[in-house]
Amino acid sequence: NTPTPVVTRFAPSPTGFLHIGGARTALFNWLFARGRGGKFLLRIEDTDRARSTPEATEKILTGLRWLGLDWDGEAISQAARADRHAEIAHAMLASGAAYKCFATQDEIEAFREAARAEGRSTLYRSPWREADPATHPDAPYAIRVKAPLEGETVIADAVQGDVRIGNDQLDDMIVLRSDGTPTYMLAVVVDDHDMGVTHVIRGDDHLNNAARQMLVYAAMGWEVPVWAHIPLIHGPDGKKLSKRHGALGIEEYQRMGYPSAAIRNYLARLGWSHGDDEFFTDAQALEWFGLEGINKAPARLDLKKLDHLTA
Ligand code: GLU
Repeated sequence: NTPTPVVTRFAPSPTGFLHIGGARTALFNWLFARGRGGKFLLRIEDTDRARSTPEATEKILTGLRWLGLDWDGEAISQAARADRHAEIAHAMLASGAAYKCFATQDEIEAFREAARAEGRSTLYRSPWREADPATHPDAPYAIRVKAPLEGETVIADAVQGDVRIGNDQLDDMIVLRSDGTPTYMLAVVVDDHDMGVTHVIRGDDHLNNAARQMLVYAAMGWEVPVWAHIPLIHGPDGKKLSKRHGALGIEEYQRMGYPSAAIRNYLARLGWSHGDDEFFTDAQALEWFGLEGINKAPARLDLKKLDHLTA
């Protein structure tokens, strides 16, 4: 049962061109929302100031426009929301779902080195987790979430099924660094919550992040969105997609003269199937697209199929 109204989002990091995998993710989110009278939002994940550039953002927006994937409202800058992210980290602190950690980088490194040397898990458990606040020094601190020590976290994924991760695999991740900046893992959850996102459709390289992000949902008592982690695209040889398999940037396809409708059709079929239909109109794609049709095995990029579509 699909909760209404559906809200999806595309959340690219502006560090380069619009990758064919990203374009497919955007298209799936767009089809899913638009086919259900829902909203499709765009969030630019520009928190990594060193790697994010306005040129990359521009390229991504241009690529989406060329593909005809229109979004609702303005594109949201994640970096601009840092105060809100910090506010939530402090709310978690106030409720006891998170704690102040005064450990220094050197102490954490020393712990890891010792753990490695002794063959123990290097998953860091801060000694400050159980410390009495009366013993807290007057020093900069990071805010860490209190991860459960036992049990497991289950990601009920619409594509992958139930994915179980032992809680002993989850550390007390930092949500706010000692310089007051939020971490990516916190920002994603706060933004998805505030934007009212109901379905998170993204690459399955984020599956492990989902388990950690669920700690934040639990700490805040927020409703968890429907997860749909799509297998990444591979090359025709079944290997991780790379330059040697052909063009990776949407702008390259545009430059080569492919019509955007053909690229859209091709991307729609990359990891999603609907019977034996090879070509469909936009109206049909909007009507037919659903999470149940997303394949569990990685799709393979096959440019011969694209040429066939455009012939
Ligand atoms: N910014 C992330 C990326 O480009 C996506 C995060 C997400 O979809 O939750 O891989």
